Amino acid sequence: MKSDTILKAAQSVRSSKFTVVFTGAGISVESGIPPFRGENGLWSKYDPRYLDLEFFHTHPAESWKVLKQIFFDFMADAKPNPAHFAIARLEQSGYVKEVITQNIDNLHQKAGSKNVHEFHGSTRTLVCVDCGKTVPSADIDLEHLPPHCNSCKGLLKPDFVFFSEMIPQRVSDLSFAAAEKSDVMLLIGTTGEVMPASFLPYTAKEKNKATIIEINPDESLYTPKITDIFLKGKAGEILPELAEKILQK
Ligand code: NAD
Ligand code: ZN
Repeated sequence: MKSDTILKAAQSVRSSKFTVVFTGAGISVESGIPPFRGENGLWSKYDPRYLDLEFFHTHPAESWKVLKQIFFDFMADAKPNPAHFAIARLEQSGYVKEVITQNIDNLHQKAGSKNVHEFHGSTRTLVCVDCGKTVPSADIDLEHLPPHCNSCKGLLKPDFVFFSEMIPQRVSDLSFAAAEKSDVMLLIGTTGEVMPASFLPYTAKEKNKATIIEINPDESLYTPKITDIFLKGKAGEILPELAEKILQK
């Protein structure tokens, strides 16, 4: 990575009024959580039908067994990496206003970020498919699957978005409002293949001519289209360096 490219990115953030961070599975790879796609992606190990809503409803016990393994046993132990901490530092010092994440792993909050929009929900809560009540995942015994609602005995579902499920209105509105306001957007570890989350960077570019800074070891769908500054590399290595340059007196 050429240091003048990082410096240029740092200057953009320093002179911006409203920097928004948008993250995908790539930011958590160095925390030991694989992305869905690619050679070592989760889909090379697990069948994606376990995130299909209809399959979940018709095979709740079978689905829950796999969902528990991937999202509750494994993700629960993951720790934030230097990329998550760098973003939290930038938020605390006022350079980052909002974080929009497609991840459900809670690692931005664990690192100290406060203003986080979880576009696809999170593993922190479960939701009853019958009465809509949400409960903290930690309060539910996942040794007996599938888990049931203690109010109405309905089936509990992880409170994250399955395939073909709508994005909850509130988080969608807040995320698109942030994108429209942003004059700099940092895209970190996302392919741009998952709709409608993938529209957020285009919104920032079209509505506000935002400067798009991308951090990824590989090019994404955004790179040739809207990326202004491409910082090629791992989030856990580039972000601390970028934060250092932004925070330099
Ligand atoms: P993706 O799996 O489609 O793509 C991951 C991206 O991360 C790729 O562009 C890859 O080049 C990049 N990447 C890999 N290692 C990286 C690193 N060290 N630093 C920076 N970038 C790196 O992810 P997606 O586009 O985010 O879409 C998959 C969907 O599934 C999203 O909603 C995603 O959040 C979700 N998901 C979440 C988690 C999680 O919560 N940690 C894990 C897997 C998938
Ligand atoms: Zn219920």
